[in-house]
Amino acid sequence: MLFPTDYADARERFRELVSCADFSLESHAHPTKKGPNGENLACDIARLGAMDAKRVILISSGTHGVEGFCGSGCQAELLASGLLHGLPGDTAVVLVHAVNPYGFAWLRRTNEDNIDLNRNFVDHSVPHLNPGYDEIHDWLVPRDWSGPARTEADASIDAYIADRGLRAFQVAMTGGQYNHPDGLFYGGKAPAWSNLIWRKLLRKHCVNAEQVIGIDIHTGLGPRGVGEAICVTSEAEYMKAKALFGEEVTWTGGGEAVSAQVGGSLLHAAHEEVGTERLVMIALEYGTYPIPETLEALRAETWLVARGDAASEQASRIKQSLKDAFFIDEPDWKLAVTTRFMDLVLKIKGSLS
Ligand SMILES: [Zn+2]
Repeated sequence: MLFPTDYADARERFRELVSCADFSLESHAHPTKKGPNGENLACDIARLGAMDAKRVILISSGTHGVEGFCGSGCQAELLASGLLHGLPGDTAVVLVHAVNPYGFAWLRRTNEDNIDLNRNFVDHSVPHLNPGYDEIHDWLVPRDWSGPARTEADASIDAYIADRGLRAFQVAMTGGQYNHPDGLFYGGKAPAWSNLIWRKLLRKHCVNAEQVIGIDIHTGLGPRGVGEAICVTSEAEYMKAKALFGEEVTWTGGGEAVSAQVGGSLLHAAHEEVGTERLVMIALEYGTYPIPETLEALRAETWLVARGDAASEQASRIKQSLKDAFFIDEPDWKLAVTTRFMDLVLKIKGSLS
């Protein structure tokens, strides 16, 4: 199967596959950063179909860096499958590879500034407060990872959960925060580079279409290998998504989705740019491990970057654990992921008459 071994491998394969399939390709090189082996980092955008196509299918990967192992693999499998052949003449396909190439290459969920892109698409001119996170930040990112500060921090977290419940803890931790640049689920102080690229590509490739159908591929939440199709904006979009993808689509507004309701995501930006009446876009969230394990891997990696030694043996273990938490390199998982993805693409194809 065509899942990559690292970012450079993913990028090379993507570029090769789109060049064989008559896509036009544009690359947005990262303005300041390189990969761990000095390789170039870029968001690559491939388009098949006329610029004035009435309909656009938009599929993006690597919004959360390390989750790109899965998203890039899905895009490669799709390109190799031939499923994109024979689309109606008025339909274009836009594949966005590695929205956050830095996080993909360096095994981070966040970008070069520790920003979670799905918390970054907010109005930065007004304050965004998360007092719940302020309260737990020092425990989440303690001074040491295997000494007394860690023990103390974990005891405080346990007491917090015992008092207020696991759900309250997860909401405080993952809801997005704008005060701690070295913390978890940090939304940044200004639009990130990837944010600007995302808006620019929507304006170029999507705003002139009458209909845009989008999938942004994620991992780390939900049962192993299950791909939950999640709507994050309005009930109206949720209804459209159910008609298109099936009754199993969930909506964060309804409270039943695996992910919590957060503002400022890339999907919210897509709605702002394209217009809600013309867009239906889901986050496709593939399950890996239970939430506490995934959050622990994220916490360790955030600690490593904030307080640890990047050259240590411990650093490689923490990085590997993060990758493992968001990409299960096992045939059954990859097969389930691919099958689900192709099924959703077939549903999109079936809706185009
Ligand atoms: Zn994600």
